[in-house]
Amino acid sequence: MLNLILFGPPGAGKGTQSEKLISKYQLCHISTGDLLRAERAAGTPLGNQANEFISKGELVPDEVVIGMVKNFMVSKPDAAGFIFDGFPRTIAQAEALDVMLGDFNTSISIVLGLEVEEDELVKRLLLRGQSSGRVDDQDESTIRNRFKEYQNKTLPLAGFYNQQSKYVGVQGIGEIDAIFESLCEQIDSL
Ligand code: ADP
Repeated sequence: MLNLILFGPPGAGKGTQSEKLISKYQLCHISTGDLLRAERAAGTPLGNQANEFISKGELVPDEVVIGMVKNFMVSKPDAAGFIFDGFPRTIAQAEALDVMLGDFNTSISIVLGLEVEEDELVKRLLLRGQSSGRVDDQDESTIRNRFKEYQNKTLPLAGFYNQQSKYVGVQGIGEIDAIFESLCEQIDSL
């Protein structure tokens, strides 16, 4: 199985690149952001609980997200591999993911980190907010809060996966297709 983590700050282009990777490598996409927004749109208790965190730019509690990913993975027993987008975001989530993949007799193949500086990210997110209607893309203070969460809780994962020799950083500024090519090069060299 090919199991990829697409890693990077909010607005780095994980969703865009995921779509291209899914079709090229026939992977099953898990975006915890998309799953949480779907729960909210369906008005489930989980969605309503999560929305309180999302709208403030804070991370949703680990147990909520981990349970959701577990349910999703067991519903895809025939997957040829997974692409994790926006998950894991904390060390506890990464440890839980290792256990879940172990239950599938598999493991993470590579962690691809999209590297983009913060000012460029803020610009992208504010622009996206004009059309996406996402509650967390509307004002700069919520966006800055998401970066703070990223710095404090998510960035340490780069070190976590570096220790396992799985982390590869890729320049996330430039043409979408050129970035995609760099990601594919890393995957094809596995
Ligand atoms: P972005 O990468 O642009 O921040 P996402 O769609 O991945 O967008 O996430 C949106 C929000 O959903 C996050 O700011 C957070 O509140 C919540 N969220 C998504 N994935 C997770 C996760 N793995 N753990 C905790 N919260 C999450």
